This record gives sequence, structure tokens and C-alpha cells, in this order.
Amino acid sequence: AFRPANRMQGLALSEIVQISEKAAQLRAEGRDIVSFGTGEPDFPTPPDIIAAAHKSALAGQTRYTPTAGTPALRDAIAAQANSGRENVLVSTGAKQVIANALMATLDPGDEVIIPTPYWTTYSDIVRICQAVAVTVPCPMDEGFKLSPDMLEQAITPRSRWLMLNSPSNPSGAVYSAEEIRALAAVLERNPHVWILSDEIYEHLTYGDFASFAAEAPALKERTLTVNGASKAWSMTGWRIGWGIGPRPLIAAMAAVQGQFTSGASSISQAAALAAIQGDTALLKERCAILKSRRDRVVAALNAMPGLRCRVPEGAFYAFASCAGLLKPEGGPFKSDADLCRWLLEDAGVALVPGRAFGLPGYVRLSFAYSDAELSDGLSRMAEALKRIS
Ligand code: PLP
Repeated sequence: AFRPANRMQGLALSEIVQISEKAAQLRAEGRDIVSFGTGEPDFPTPPDIIAAAHKSALAGQTRYTPTAGTPALRDAIAAQANSGRENVLVSTGAKQVIANALMATLDPGDEVIIPTPYWTTYSDIVRICQAVAVTVPCPMDEGFKLSPDMLEQAITPRSRWLMLNSPSNPSGAVYSAEEIRALAAVLERNPHVWILSDEIYEHLTYGDFASFAAEAPALKERTLTVNGASKAWSMTGWRIGWGIGPRPLIAAMAAVQGQFTSGASSISQAAALAAIQGDTALLKERCAILKSRRDRVVAALNAMPGLRCRVPEGAFYAFASCAGLLKPEGGPFKSDADLCRWLLEDAGVALVPGRAFGLPGYVRLSFAYSDAELSDGLSRMAEALKRIS
């Protein structure tokens, strides 16, 4: 009989996937379903980026690239980060950057501090490495952010990494420069803790953005910055992400990557080079569209009975508290997952329950959807919730 490895223990089918599958099943039965579940921009990849990929393929850039990435792309990423080529690793999506880093550094029993709510993948990769995810709840009243005190309390002699994500999926919270410096002060006193700063939503920030590495130069030799092409340039399918960090870490990550994938796709790397060297006007334009959707969505959610949503400063998710709809405070639902099931079946709207991100009592709505879809889905939700309130 099939026997999964110990490292697979606790890995379940992601709740996000389960919701999408349920939505697909209802659609197949002929139901009209609006899904606000996925985490990718609805915009197309800009055509000049596609043209650059085409050109590179026709020019013969169709072979293995160096494991750590093409020199041209690594240099371009390094230049933007004031770093060097040897400090940059290009991978098959930001997800693989994170997997490489954790595979290269974690031993069984090591601890990784993860402010919660978190992107589901963090805890799952930690689990695959047979390490321990130390989740620290950061509820809405804390702005969904980790405070220096909370960090201090979570650190033990076995802590290896702090995983930060700003702007955050799912909460949209963005750490200010001062907040980063306050966390950095705690980390300076704890030299055994490394920092993985996932900044994949950097270009989808609606106010100021602060990068961990730039605000905490004293921690440079133990900071890994994660970024990529997926979200900013609508390139989720091209699978390009990168890590910027100290050379020994980058070399170890490249060694892992060399055995798992040999490296990222040559054509996609040419496309990513065109993306980061391209005009930023389109990024700003798209960001402005997302910002106006954000404002509409947050206002609509706050007008619904039982939901409370703070304004996300970045990314494209609204993470609303549904405590007012849950038992025993008066609402009819047992849990956030129960509410999401009901919304899908009754209103035909797919959201992801907060429990998928480690923080029950919330729902995540992605607003990377067209205005028409947003209007339709939001009015269905409002009607359904009015009926039961
Ligand atoms: N980091 C965060 C916080 C994300 O939300 C995502 C995608 O959902 C990723 C990383 C992964 O991006 P990529 O497509 O580059 O693997």
C-alpha cells in the first residue's frame, strides 16, 4: 500500500484549492458562481513582455540556463537592489525561492516564526522540512501585524527564521519603515534568527512601501528578500521569482535548486528581464485600478451585516472579520468555513475562510476581478446576509 513519508504529515489539500474545486463542481452543475478565491491579477501580461519572450526563443535562448539564473537577469535584479550577481538566485516562482531557502537551512525540530494570518504555503513548506511553524496570531486589532513584543516572546534557541510578508497575503497589511526598524532592533539582539522578507506585492502597495533589507542594513548578512514577476506584471504562469541575500545562503539555495529543477525557464527569464527593465507607467496604472476596486470592496463589505473590514494598504485582498456572523455572538454560523460554504451554496459566491491562513473568524476576498464581477458578487453577498440578519 502507498505509504507517504513522515514529512508529508499534516499536509492537507489546501482549503483554497478545495473551495475552487467546489465552485467548479457547482458550475458544472449549471450554477452561476462568482469566485473571489484566487490570488492572481486579472490583467493580462503586458504584450511587450510577451514579445521579449518570443524574441528570446527565436534567438535560441531555449537551453538550460546557469542554475542560479541568466547573468543578465541576475545583474538587473542585483542592480535594483544595490547588490551583486552572487547575491541573487532566480527560481521557478517566489514559492520555489522560499522552498529552496527552507530546504537549505532547516533541520527537523527547528522553528520558524510566522505572523498569522499567513500565506498558507509558509507553514506547509516548513512542515515538509520537518521543522516547526511557530504561528503568532496578529488579529485585526493589531493591524494584522507582529509587534516587537510578540516577536521577542516567540523567539527560542531553536528559532531559525522569521518569515515576514509585507504587503501581506491575506491581510493586505504593510509594515512601515519604523515598524520594520522596531522588529529589527529585537532581531539584532538575537543573532541566530534569520529574516525571510517576502515582498512579492511590493509594486501593489497603495501608499508607502518599505523594504526590510533597506531599513535594517545591520541585518543584511541574515536577510533574504523574496520577490518576483508574478503579481506586479501579471505573470503568474511564467513562474519567475527571485531571492536576494548573503552569498553563502544563495549558494546553498542554488545547490538545492540545481537538483530539484536545474533552474527556471530560459524563456520566462528573458520575459522577466523585459518586465523589470520596462516602463513603470503600466504598473502605476494597474495599481490605481486595484486601489479604486479596493475602496469599493471595503465600503461594500463594511456595509454588510456582521462583517468588519480594515482597509488593506497593499496586495489585492480584503480580509474581513466575520465574528459578527458566528455563534455564540448572535450569528448563525459555526465557523468561517461554515459561512463560506453557505455563501457558496446560497449566494453562489466563493470566498476563502480565514482558517486557511491560520486565523479563523475572517474571510478573504480577492478583488483582482472585473468591476462587473465585483458588483455582481458583492450584491449577492449583501442580499444573502440581509436575508439572515
Ligand atoms: N508570496 C506570497 C505572499 C504570495 O501570495 C504568493 C502567491 O500567491 C507567492 C509568494 C508566490 O508567488 P509565485 O507565483 O512567484 O510563486
